[in-house]
Amino acid sequence: MRRDFGISIWGDGNFVIEGDDVRINHANRPSLLEITQEIRAREYRGPILLRFPHLIQKQIDTLFDTFAAARDALGYRGNFYALFPLKVNQFPNFVDQLLSVSQSHAYGLEAGSKAELIIAMAKTPIGAPITVNGFKDKEMISLIYIAAKSGHNITVTIEGLAELETIIEVDRVFNEGSENPATPHIGMRVRLHSIGIGAWAKSGGYGSKFGLTSTELLEAYDTLVHHGLADHFSMIHFHIGSQLSEINPLKKALREAGNIYASLKQRGATSLKAINIGGGLAVEYAQHPFSHERNYSLKEFANDVVFLMQEIARSKGVEEPDIYTESGRFIAASHAVLIAPVLELFSQEYHESGLRLKAKNPPLIEELHALYQSIRRNNAKEYLHDALDHMESLLTLFDLGYIDLEDRSNTEILVNLIIKKAILLLKNEDTDELKRLESRIQERYLVNFSIFQSLPDLWGLGQHFPVMPISHLSEKPTSPASIWDITCDSDGEIAYRVDHPLYLHDVDVAQEEYFLAFFLTGAYQEVLGMQHNLFTHPTEAVVTFDAEGRHRLEDVRDAQNLMDVLDDLKYDTEAIKKGLTQQITGSVLMQKQEKEKTLEKLTLYLSENSYLKTIQAIVSPKEKG
Ligand SMILES: *Cc1c(COP(=O)(O)O)cnc(C)c1O
Repeated sequence: MRRDFGISIWGDGNFVIEGDDVRINHANRPSLLEITQEIRAREYRGPILLRFPHLIQKQIDTLFDTFAAARDALGYRGNFYALFPLKVNQFPNFVDQLLSVSQSHAYGLEAGSKAELIIAMAKTPIGAPITVNGFKDKEMISLIYIAAKSGHNITVTIEGLAELETIIEVDRVFNEGSENPATPHIGMRVRLHSIGIGAWAKSGGYGSKFGLTSTELLEAYDTLVHHGLADHFSMIHFHIGSQLSEINPLKKALREAGNIYASLKQRGATSLKAINIGGGLAVEYAQHPFSHERNYSLKEFANDVVFLMQEIARSKGVEEPDIYTESGRFIAASHAVLIAPVLELFSQEYHESGLRLKAKNPPLIEELHALYQSIRRNNAKEYLHDALDHMESLLTLFDLGYIDLEDRSNTEILVNLIIKKAILLLKNEDTDELKRLESRIQERYLVNFSIFQSLPDLWGLGQHFPVMPISHLSEKPTSPASIWDITCDSDGEIAYRVDHPLYLHDVDVAQEEYFLAFFLTGAYQEVLGMQHNLFTHPTEAVVTFDAEGRHRLEDVRDAQNLMDVLDDLKYDTEAIKKGLTQQITGSVLMQKQEKEKTLEKLTLYLSENSYLKTIQAIVSPKEKG
């Protein structure tokens, strides 16, 4: 894994390593580094989120093609439709590209709130499906009726009996006495006893927040019949949770929902014709072998769905349902790559040049120095053990007051150097001891980004995201690495893990830029991201390719500037600006000319964003937390 950063596991052929670079495996194959430098040439200095619409297209085409193949193979008669659940990514630069690359398919949007519904109504082409899930009030249901009256192919999913009452009420308001009554399609979310597996499994099962029990389903259906709305009832919906790590829970849910569909058909629900299987299709985020996050492929997933629906329909003598999916993570994750500059490597303090040896050193330090100078491959292990032993003794001597701070610093540096040398000499031995030692000499990479803003699932759920540098890739990375973000929060760290180690290059970032790329960040991370410490959504750019295969940067959008961030928090920014200006003009510490210059500087700084532009202003690691 060291050299290819697991790209063959998580990369899905989207990126390739060539020489020093990681390239986009598409069209003219630009490297991530050259794209990054093009954007930085426009004076952007913080993290950059790159969007690749061709990867959205690839996922959508793959989804439709795979289901088409499964339906063809089995002679399945129901249709296939897909929707994008907006909660996974509502950013306009994403949604606009999504709709533009999916035009050849019956692809629509799923909404779970009023604001998402407005996006769906405004952006979905007339005729493509819209579904509306989640809890709704009268106003939201009215919006759905407005969409239906505007000609949209929209389905409202009933999550509870109270909602059904509201639908009946709103239907009367919109349609009573109308010459052209229009009613949305009605779906029912079913409460399954099947549950998913994985960190996001809470959406399914009897304890789930959502859906109707069998008793409620029957009651809801009877109510629809009673109010003359049964003709609009067309869909059964379920969603058993995101990032399903195993396929079996899905199969169980499909059998359960399929039989509910068949029973309702047999009861006379003639317009019922679709089953909506929600999302859950997993993404492979693993960067190491043996840590795979899913045990199935899309092909297996599609085959299972089609096969089970056909089997149930046949055995119950009902028509094969249309299949809807609402996979979001699978569609969106790969399209976004976050590039963040490394600002500093912290433990470069452990250099030989940092030694402060005295004319006369404590004997154990002399001993350490000798070990360092004479360590060889054949004695490496023995010397390493001696060094660790001496360190324990020296630290005890320090606690007891027998050696001073300079001695202690020399101890730290020498032991660190000895461990590094030993690991290098013993690199063919893959023992647990060496791995543990590596974590002791790990390098801390300070990176110009916020984990809370850009990888919130890493912070909140421990979700791994593949990470690799975008240069130096022909060199073997040797530094066991942990990654620190620039928030003042000790949780803003990706710790070094002995079981899943990350190695990066030992680069002098004062001499040369070094960037890390975080992959598969296109699903959920952007809107879930928090403005902890007031770090905002990073600068973003859309990378498209023209007919000749040349790449283009579109819609470059800068991160919010400082004043806009404060404005979002409802600060009176005019008053803040005025106050700061008065402080400068009223200061007795500056002359008129200096005041004018300072005011100019202030104006410039206020127009910039929170991310760091240079590395000078950085706190030392000890102050963090
Ligand atoms: C969240 C959600 C989805 C998307 O799930 P993914 O795991 O991202 O595919 C689909 N449908 C519903 C109802 C959801 O709540």
